Amino acid sequence: MNIFILTSGEYGSRIVNNIAKSFSSSIVGIHEVPEDLPEFIDDVSTYVPGNLPLADLVIVTGLQGDINLIAPLVADKVGANSIIISAHEPGSVPPGLISEIEEAAGEKVLVFAKPFCSLKPMGDPIIDEFTSKLGKPQIMIEGDDFIKKVTVIRDAPCGCTTFIAEELIGVNVEDAEFVADNKFHNYPCLASMTHDRVLGDTILHVAGYLSKEAVKRALGFTMKSAVVDLETCNVDDEHCDHLCVENCPQVQVGGDTVTIREDDKAFIDPASCGCCELCISECPYGSIEIVNKRMEFKKEE
Ligand code: SF4
Ligand code: SF4
Repeated sequence: MNIFILTSGEYGSRIVNNIAKSFSSSIVGIHEVPEDLPEFIDDVSTYVPGNLPLADLVIVTGLQGDINLIAPLVADKVGANSIIISAHEPGSVPPGLISEIEEAAGEKVLVFAKPFCSLKPMGDPIIDEFTSKLGKPQIMIEGDDFIKKVTVIRDAPCGCTTFIAEELIGVNVEDAEFVADNKFHNYPCLASMTHDRVLGDTILHVAGYLSKEAVKRALGFTMKSAVVDLETCNVDDEHCDHLCVENCPQVQVGGDTVTIREDDKAFIDPASCGCCELCISECPYGSIEIVNKRMEFKKEE
């Protein structure tokens, strides 16, 4: 696989440096886009670089606003059929711009990842080769009462999973998700702390939930999760629009964190719940609460 990267700013540099650790021999070109471009650009084609190499995958990271429209143009020039566009700030690729980029990309495989660490395998062989190493964090944990070894299967594109993995050695397994949360904020993640209207939360918070989820799945339990009271959930079938599902930021990034059962009541997956409490404030029946106790589920192997 040959990768061409369009990058801008400090966030983009962090991502490029970490991609190079996993795919150094695959990167055939990097083009640095200036940070001070206007948000609205009449003709983005003037910003397409010349002398481009052949590539299979175009990765766009750190670009703000209309300049993201060069992604399909660059993909055409390098002969790539697969494009990943990552967003770390709420306004960097707004929904209207996404539609424009999708239209320009035509038949190409195009994925938007907000945050970049929400990117999962999705059936495209090129993008899945990338996600075999980078994307939504996945780890393996060894140890009984205390963590002896952590193997990073898929690192976050910024490298924070590797950082957290090293910090977890020697930690009591029941403290691990909280230590991981703390270390995630120490890294530090460069995603925005501004509220994102689509996610309903900040992009940085969602990245933290994804990081914690990796630890919980590797352990096979969590010590804290939102839980639905089935006695009161949707009890009279009158006021519930399943707001718990549509307001969960983990659902917005493609997770199955809140699902509706056959009896029309909600189920919250304790492995991926980030305990943001947004569903609690949205539920018209007051059926959700945060529970602090050990909850077991199938360990990810
Ligand atoms: S938890 Fe609340 S919002 Fe969700 S399905 Fe039950 S009643 Fe509806
Ligand atoms: S607390 Fe509710 S909204 Fe927040 S991550 Fe958990 S299930 Fe989703």
